[in-house]
Amino acid sequence: MNMLLDLEQIYHEFLLEQNKINQKERYTDEPTALHMSSGGHCYLKHWFAKHPEYIPEENDEQSMRVMRLGTLIHKDYENAIIWWLEKNYPDTYPHDVTMETKVYYSETVIGHPDIYIVANTKDKLIVIDIKTTHSYKWDIMFGKLKDYNPNNFYEIQLASYTMAIAKEKNIKLEHCEMYFFWYKKDNSEVRMTPLSNFYFAEASTYWKEVDYFVNNNDVNDIASIVPKHSAHCPNAKWECGKYCSHSINCQLLTGSL
Ligand code: SF4
Repeated sequence: MNMLLDLEQIYHEFLLEQNKINQKERYTDEPTALHMSSGGHCYLKHWFAKHPEYIPEENDEQSMRVMRLGTLIHKDYENAIIWWLEKNYPDTYPHDVTMETKVYYSETVIGHPDIYIVANTKDKLIVIDIKTTHSYKWDIMFGKLKDYNPNNFYEIQLASYTMAIAKEKNIKLEHCEMYFFWYKKDNSEVRMTPLSNFYFAEASTYWKEVDYFVNNNDVNDIASIVPKHSAHCPNAKWECGKYCSHSINCQLLTGSL
């Protein structure tokens, strides 16, 4: 048999299949849900999420490989935490370490936090968001661009996950701790940073505004939006174009870009 082994193509097909499975498992029953992972982002992206008749574009092959790499690193750290807790804290945190579970910020806003640990005494919740990052973001966090933070997207996402889990587990917000775990893809350097509880208020305001936006704008209202000029569409200029899976839908509806 003459077998043609194109590993690049095989891997891409594998990732497409994995994506299909993932989408089915996570979102089939809630096709109009908004996503905490897009916390902080352009309000119009959420409007499109609420209107599934506007189909997003597929990510390109390279972007899919980048995301897969992130997923694999996440999984490994999750497994390490489970192993460590079971070894050291089997009574305090018995089986309440939950990964990849769907949580609800509200009836319409869902999310899948990376790692959260709930003490069985119910007086402590630790939520960790793992960020695999390239050197530019790393430099913003720790290097020569330190303190230049162009947006608060990650902070809103992590605060949203934490508020959702705290509500579900009946834990007071003052008993919650939030952390980012940064993994630099270039050389596997890692750091952990805490996030201030200050972001609970910011996340709360954000989702209130998004809720109002998606429920009070019809197609005609959206047509009057001018991307990059109308408020919150987008929240950061880089969101438009290749980083937005609704770029073409947006162009068709608003007639600009
Ligand atoms: S193209 Fe820009 S304005 Fe339009 S939905 Fe995407 S991020 Fe928002």
